[in-house]
Amino acid sequence: MSKLMSVFSNYLEHILEEKVCTHESLNLTETKLSLREVAFGVVEIIPENSSLAPAVLSCGVHGNETAPIEIMNDLLGAISNQEINVARPLLFIFAHVKAMKEHKRFIDFNMNRLFCGNHLNYPKVQESKRAKELEEIMAKFYAPFSQRPWHLDLHTAIRPSHVTRFAVFPHQENGVPTKEEMNLLANLDIDAILLANGKASTFSAHSCENFGAYAYTLELGKVYPFGKNPHEKFKAVKKGLIQFIESDSILEKTSEKLPIQYKVEKELIKDSENYLLHLEEDYANFTPIAKGSLLETLKSGPYKTKEECAVVFPNNDVPIGQRTGLLVKKQS
Ligand SMILES: [Zn+2]
Repeated sequence: MSKLMSVFSNYLEHILEEKVCTHESLNLTETKLSLREVAFGVVEIIPENSSLAPAVLSCGVHGNETAPIEIMNDLLGAISNQEINVARPLLFIFAHVKAMKEHKRFIDFNMNRLFCGNHLNYPKVQESKRAKELEEIMAKFYAPFSQRPWHLDLHTAIRPSHVTRFAVFPHQENGVPTKEEMNLLANLDIDAILLANGKASTFSAHSCENFGAYAYTLELGKVYPFGKNPHEKFKAVKKGLIQFIESDSILEKTSEKLPIQYKVEKELIKDSENYLLHLEEDYANFTPIAKGSLLETLKSGPYKTKEECAVVFPNNDVPIGQRTGLLVKKQS
Protein backbone atom coordinates (compact mmCIF):
# COMPACT_ATOMS: atom_id res chain seq x y z
CA MET A 1 0.00 0.00 0.00
CA SER A 2 1.36 3.42 -0.92
CA LYS A 3 1.90 5.95 1.86
CA LEU A 4 -0.90 8.16 0.55
CA MET A 5 -3.27 5.22 0.21
CA SER A 6 -2.70 4.36 3.86
CA VAL A 7 -3.45 7.97 4.85
CA PHE A 8 -6.92 7.81 3.28
CA SER A 9 -7.69 4.25 4.36
CA ASN A 10 -7.77 5.45 8.00
CA TYR A 11 -7.83 9.20 7.72
CA LEU A 12 -9.14 9.71 11.25
CA GLU A 13 -6.06 8.07 12.72
CA HIS A 14 -3.92 10.28 10.49
CA ILE A 15 -5.51 13.56 11.60
CA LEU A 16 -5.73 12.57 15.28
CA GLU A 17 -1.96 12.11 15.19
CA GLU A 18 -1.86 15.67 13.81
CA LYS A 19 0.12 14.71 10.76
CA VAL A 20 0.53 17.72 8.50
CA CYS A 21 -1.51 18.12 5.33
CA THR A 22 0.12 16.33 2.38
CA HIS A 23 -1.54 18.34 -0.46
CA GLU A 24 -0.77 15.34 -2.67
CA SER A 25 -3.18 13.68 -5.09
CA LEU A 26 -3.97 9.99 -5.16
CA ASN A 27 -5.30 8.81 -8.51
CA LEU A 28 -7.42 5.67 -8.44
CA THR A 29 -7.45 3.96 -11.80
CA GLU A 30 -10.34 1.51 -11.37
CA THR A 31 -12.93 4.00 -10.10
CA LYS A 32 -11.28 6.91 -11.99
CA LEU A 33 -11.08 9.19 -9.00
CA SER A 34 -8.64 11.69 -7.71
CA LEU A 35 -8.35 12.18 -3.93
CA ARG A 36 -6.48 15.12 -2.48
CA GLU A 37 -6.00 16.42 1.03
CA VAL A 38 -6.63 20.12 0.35
CA ALA A 39 -6.14 21.20 3.96
CA PHE A 40 -5.68 19.50 7.30
CA GLY A 41 -8.83 17.42 7.87
CA VAL A 42 -10.29 18.19 4.43
CA VAL A 43 -10.27 15.80 1.47
CA GLU A 44 -11.50 16.56 -2.03
CA ILE A 45 -12.67 13.64 -4.15
CA ILE A 46 -13.16 14.34 -7.84
CA PRO A 47 -14.49 11.72 -10.26
CA GLU A 48 -13.61 11.89 -13.94
CA ASN A 49 -16.48 13.19 -16.12
CA SER A 50 -19.14 13.70 -13.47
CA SER A 51 -22.31 15.58 -14.32
CA LEU A 52 -23.91 15.31 -10.88
CA ALA A 53 -24.11 18.16 -8.38
CA PRO A 54 -21.20 18.43 -5.95
CA ALA A 55 -21.65 17.73 -2.24
CA VAL A 56 -19.92 18.68 0.97
CA LEU A 57 -20.12 16.11 3.76
CA SER A 58 -18.95 17.43 7.09
CA CYS A 59 -18.58 16.06 10.61
CA GLY A 60 -16.95 16.96 13.91
CA VAL A 61 -17.99 20.63 14.02
CA HIS A 62 -18.66 19.42 17.55
CA GLY A 63 -15.63 17.33 18.38
CA ASN A 64 -17.30 14.79 20.69
CA GLU A 65 -19.99 13.79 18.18
CA THR A 66 -18.14 10.70 17.11
CA ALA A 67 -20.62 8.58 15.11
CA PRO A 68 -20.63 10.89 12.05
CA ILE A 69 -16.82 11.13 12.24
CA GLU A 70 -16.50 7.34 12.22
CA ILE A 71 -19.06 7.01 9.41
CA MET A 72 -17.22 9.51 7.20
CA ASN A 73 -13.89 7.88 8.01
CA ASP A 74 -15.33 4.51 6.95
CA LEU A 75 -16.72 6.00 3.74
CA LEU A 76 -13.39 7.61 2.90
CA GLY A 77 -11.62 4.30 3.56
CA ALA A 78 -14.05 2.47 1.26
CA ILE A 79 -13.64 5.14 -1.44
CA SER A 80 -9.84 4.87 -1.31
CA ASN A 81 -10.14 1.06 -1.51
CA GLN A 82 -12.30 1.55 -4.63
CA GLU A 83 -15.31 -0.13 -3.00
CA ILE A 84 -17.56 2.89 -3.63
CA ASN A 85 -18.14 4.31 -7.11
CA VAL A 86 -18.16 8.03 -6.48
CA ALA A 87 -20.39 9.75 -9.04
CA ARG A 88 -20.31 13.33 -7.74
CA PRO A 89 -17.52 15.69 -6.68
CA LEU A 90 -17.18 15.51 -2.91
CA LEU A 91 -15.55 17.50 -0.17
CA PHE A 92 -15.11 15.59 3.10
CA ILE A 93 -14.58 17.90 6.07
CA PHE A 94 -13.48 16.75 9.52
CA ALA A 95 -14.05 20.12 11.11
CA HIS A 96 -12.68 20.40 14.65
CA VAL A 97 -9.83 17.94 15.09
CA LYS A 98 -8.46 19.53 18.33
CA ALA A 99 -11.84 19.11 20.05
CA MET A 100 -12.05 15.50 18.74
CA LYS A 101 -8.69 14.77 20.36
CA GLU A 102 -9.84 16.23 23.66
CA HIS A 103 -13.25 14.50 23.48
CA LYS A 104 -14.92 17.89 23.78
CA ARG A 105 -17.77 19.58 21.98
CA PHE A 106 -15.54 22.65 21.53
CA ILE A 107 -12.54 24.32 23.17
CA ASP A 108 -13.40 28.06 23.41
CA PHE A 109 -16.58 28.68 21.41
CA ASN A 110 -19.31 26.63 19.78
CA MET A 111 -18.05 26.48 16.18
CA ASN A 112 -21.53 25.97 14.80
CA ARG A 113 -22.35 29.62 15.57
CA LEU A 114 -19.33 31.07 13.78
CA PHE A 115 -20.14 30.65 10.08
CA CYS A 116 -21.69 33.16 7.67
CA GLY A 117 -18.73 35.35 8.62
CA ASN A 118 -19.72 35.46 12.29
CA HIS A 119 -16.17 34.35 13.19
CA LEU A 120 -15.16 37.98 12.57
CA ASN A 121 -17.10 38.95 15.70
CA TYR A 122 -15.07 36.59 17.88
CA PRO A 123 -11.50 36.61 19.22
CA LYS A 124 -8.98 34.78 17.03
CA VAL A 125 -9.15 31.37 18.71
CA GLN A 126 -9.11 27.87 17.21
CA GLU A 127 -12.80 27.78 16.32
CA SER A 128 -12.94 31.20 14.68
CA LYS A 129 -9.74 30.58 12.68
CA ARG A 130 -10.97 27.17 11.54
CA ALA A 131 -14.44 28.49 10.59
CA LYS A 132 -12.76 31.14 8.42
CA GLU A 133 -10.48 28.54 6.81
CA LEU A 134 -13.41 26.18 6.11
CA GLU A 135 -15.44 29.01 4.56
CA GLU A 136 -12.55 29.76 2.18
CA ILE A 137 -12.03 26.09 1.27
CA MET A 138 -15.75 25.59 0.58
CA ALA A 139 -15.94 28.71 -1.61
CA LYS A 140 -13.11 27.28 -3.75
CA PHE A 141 -14.76 23.87 -3.89
CA TYR A 142 -18.18 25.20 -4.96
CA ALA A 143 -16.82 27.71 -7.50
CA PRO A 144 -16.32 25.58 -10.66
CA PHE A 145 -19.76 23.94 -10.60
CA SER A 146 -22.94 25.29 -12.14
CA GLN A 147 -25.34 22.87 -10.44
CA ARG A 148 -26.92 23.69 -7.10
CA PRO A 149 -24.62 21.97 -4.55
CA TRP A 150 -25.45 19.91 -1.47
CA HIS A 151 -24.10 20.17 2.06
CA LEU A 152 -24.88 17.58 4.70
CA ASP A 153 -23.44 18.56 8.09
CA LEU A 154 -23.58 15.49 10.33
CA HIS A 155 -24.09 15.67 14.10
CA THR A 156 -25.26 13.63 17.08
CA ALA A 157 -26.86 15.00 20.25
CA ILE A 158 -26.38 14.59 24.01
CA ARG A 159 -30.06 15.05 24.77
CA PRO A 160 -32.47 12.22 23.94
CA SER A 161 -35.05 12.93 21.26
CA HIS A 162 -38.70 11.96 20.83
CA VAL A 163 -37.93 11.70 17.10
CA THR A 164 -34.68 9.77 16.73
CA ARG A 165 -33.12 11.54 13.76
CA PHE A 166 -33.93 14.98 12.43
CA ALA A 167 -32.76 17.56 9.93
CA VAL A 168 -32.59 21.29 10.51
CA PHE A 169 -33.64 23.05 7.32
CA PRO A 170 -32.07 26.55 7.18
CA HIS A 171 -34.38 29.51 6.82
CA GLN A 172 -35.02 30.54 3.20
CA GLU A 173 -37.52 33.08 1.93
CA ASN A 174 -40.59 30.98 1.05
CA GLY A 175 -38.34 27.92 1.18
CA VAL A 176 -39.91 24.51 1.67
CA PRO A 177 -38.18 21.16 1.10
CA THR A 178 -38.55 19.83 -2.45
CA LYS A 179 -39.78 16.31 -3.21
CA GLU A 180 -36.19 15.27 -3.96
CA GLU A 181 -34.99 16.61 -0.63
CA MET A 182 -37.78 14.81 1.22
CA ASN A 183 -36.84 11.58 -0.57
CA LEU A 184 -33.17 11.98 0.26
CA LEU A 185 -33.87 12.66 3.94
CA ALA A 186 -36.34 9.77 4.19
CA ASN A 187 -33.76 7.45 2.63
CA LEU A 188 -31.18 8.71 5.12
CA ASP A 189 -33.55 7.45 7.84
CA ILE A 190 -34.45 10.97 9.00
CA ASP A 191 -37.73 11.07 10.97
CA ALA A 192 -38.39 14.80 11.11
CA ILE A 193 -37.47 18.11 9.52
CA LEU A 194 -37.27 21.26 11.55
CA LEU A 195 -37.92 24.37 9.43
CA ALA A 196 -35.87 27.23 10.91
CA ASN A 197 -37.61 30.60 11.22
CA GLY A 198 -34.69 32.98 11.02
CA LYS A 199 -31.10 33.45 9.94
CA ALA A 200 -28.48 31.33 11.64
CA SER A 201 -24.72 31.17 11.51
CA THR A 202 -24.43 27.39 11.40
CA PHE A 203 -22.21 25.54 8.94
CA SER A 204 -25.16 24.34 6.84
CA ALA A 205 -26.83 27.79 6.88
CA HIS A 206 -23.57 29.19 5.49
CA SER A 207 -23.73 26.92 2.42
CA CYS A 208 -27.43 27.61 1.95
CA GLU A 209 -27.17 31.36 2.25
CA ASN A 210 -23.94 31.98 0.35
CA PHE A 211 -23.93 29.23 -2.26
CA GLY A 212 -27.63 28.40 -2.61
CA ALA A 213 -26.89 24.83 -1.49
CA TYR A 214 -29.45 22.28 -0.42
CA ALA A 215 -28.04 22.18 3.08
CA TYR A 216 -29.00 20.66 6.41
CA THR A 217 -27.71 20.00 9.86
CA LEU A 218 -28.48 16.32 10.39
CA GLU A 219 -28.89 15.10 13.96
CA LEU A 220 -28.37 11.35 13.71
CA GLY A 221 -28.97 10.13 17.25
CA LYS A 222 -27.08 9.97 20.50
CA VAL A 223 -23.49 10.87 21.33
CA TYR A 224 -21.10 8.04 22.26
CA PRO A 225 -17.30 8.07 22.70
CA PHE A 226 -15.04 6.93 19.82
CA GLY A 227 -15.29 3.16 19.32
CA LYS A 228 -18.50 2.87 21.39
CA ASN A 229 -21.08 3.76 18.72
CA PRO A 230 -23.79 1.13 18.19
CA HIS A 231 -23.19 0.58 14.46
CA GLU A 232 -26.57 -0.99 13.78
CA LYS A 233 -28.25 2.33 14.71
CA PHE A 234 -26.31 4.14 11.99
CA LYS A 235 -26.51 1.44 9.31
CA ALA A 236 -29.41 2.99 7.39
CA VAL A 237 -27.90 6.47 7.25
CA LYS A 238 -24.56 5.05 6.09
CA LYS A 239 -26.28 3.05 3.36
CA GLY A 240 -28.20 6.17 2.28
CA LEU A 241 -25.00 8.24 2.15
CA ILE A 242 -23.32 5.63 -0.07
CA GLN A 243 -26.32 5.69 -2.45
CA PHE A 244 -26.19 9.49 -2.53
CA ILE A 245 -22.46 9.40 -3.34
CA GLU A 246 -22.97 6.82 -6.09
CA SER A 247 -25.90 8.34 -8.01
CA ASP A 248 -28.91 10.65 -7.99
CA SER A 249 -31.39 7.78 -7.87
CA ILE A 250 -31.90 8.25 -4.11
CA LEU A 251 -33.53 11.61 -4.88
CA GLU A 252 -36.22 9.87 -6.94
CA LYS A 253 -36.70 6.92 -4.62
CA THR A 254 -39.96 7.62 -2.80
CA SER A 255 -40.31 6.34 0.71
CA GLU A 256 -43.52 5.34 2.46
CA LYS A 257 -42.42 7.17 5.56
CA LEU A 258 -41.58 10.78 4.75
CA PRO A 259 -40.13 12.93 7.56
CA ILE A 260 -42.65 14.86 9.69
CA GLN A 261 -42.27 18.61 9.32
CA TYR A 262 -41.99 20.88 12.34
CA LYS A 263 -41.87 24.64 12.19
CA VAL A 264 -40.02 26.87 14.63
CA GLU A 265 -42.66 29.14 16.19
CA LYS A 266 -40.22 31.23 18.19
CA GLU A 267 -36.97 31.29 20.08
CA LEU A 268 -37.32 31.12 23.85
CA ILE A 269 -35.10 33.80 25.39
CA LYS A 270 -33.81 34.11 28.94
CA ASP A 271 -35.00 37.63 29.78
CA SER A 272 -33.95 37.97 33.43
CA GLU A 273 -31.95 36.45 36.27
CA ASN A 274 -35.14 34.73 37.52
CA TYR A 275 -36.08 33.28 34.13
CA LEU A 276 -36.89 29.57 34.10
CA LEU A 277 -37.79 27.12 31.36
CA HIS A 278 -40.03 24.56 33.07
CA LEU A 279 -38.91 21.30 31.50
CA GLU A 280 -37.59 18.19 33.24
CA GLU A 281 -33.81 17.72 33.13
CA ASP A 282 -34.31 14.66 30.91
CA TYR A 283 -36.92 16.21 28.58
CA ALA A 284 -36.41 14.65 25.15
CA ASN A 285 -36.41 17.03 22.13
CA PHE A 286 -39.81 17.17 20.33
CA THR A 287 -41.78 15.54 23.21
CA PRO A 288 -45.32 16.96 22.94
CA ILE A 289 -46.23 19.59 25.55
CA ALA A 290 -49.98 19.92 26.18
CA LYS A 291 -51.89 23.17 25.73
CA GLY A 292 -52.03 25.19 28.95
CA SER A 293 -48.75 23.84 30.41
CA LEU A 294 -46.51 26.22 32.33
CA LEU A 295 -43.54 26.65 29.99
CA GLU A 296 -41.55 29.63 31.20
CA THR A 297 -41.22 32.08 34.07
CA LEU A 298 -40.58 35.34 32.27
CA LYS A 299 -39.82 38.80 33.64
CA SER A 300 -43.49 39.57 33.04
CA GLY A 301 -44.67 36.43 34.85
CA PRO A 302 -45.56 32.81 34.07
CA TYR A 303 -46.12 31.84 30.43
CA LYS A 304 -48.44 28.94 29.57
CA THR A 305 -48.60 27.25 26.18
CA LYS A 306 -51.52 28.35 24.00
CA GLU A 307 -51.64 25.14 21.97
CA GLU A 308 -49.88 21.79 21.83
CA CYS A 309 -46.23 22.33 20.97
CA ALA A 310 -42.77 20.95 21.68
CA VAL A 311 -39.31 22.27 22.51
CA VAL A 312 -36.00 21.49 20.80
CA PHE A 313 -32.51 22.13 22.25
CA PRO A 314 -33.70 23.28 25.73
CA ASN A 315 -30.99 24.75 27.94
CA ASN A 316 -31.58 26.89 31.05
CA ASP A 317 -27.87 27.36 31.54
CA VAL A 318 -27.30 30.36 29.22
CA PRO A 319 -26.49 34.03 29.86
CA ILE A 320 -29.36 36.58 29.94
CA GLY A 321 -30.42 37.53 26.41
CA GLN A 322 -29.57 34.14 24.93
CA ARG A 323 -31.71 31.31 23.66
CA THR A 324 -32.99 28.68 26.08
CA GLY A 325 -34.68 26.61 23.39
CA LEU A 326 -36.83 26.58 20.28
CA LEU A 327 -40.60 26.37 20.51
CA VAL A 328 -41.77 24.19 17.62
CA LYS A 329 -45.09 23.05 16.18
CA LYS A 330 -45.88 19.99 14.12
CA GLN A 331 -47.17 20.83 10.64
CA SER A 332 -50.28 19.03 9.52
ZN1 LIG B 1 -23.50 18.93 17.05
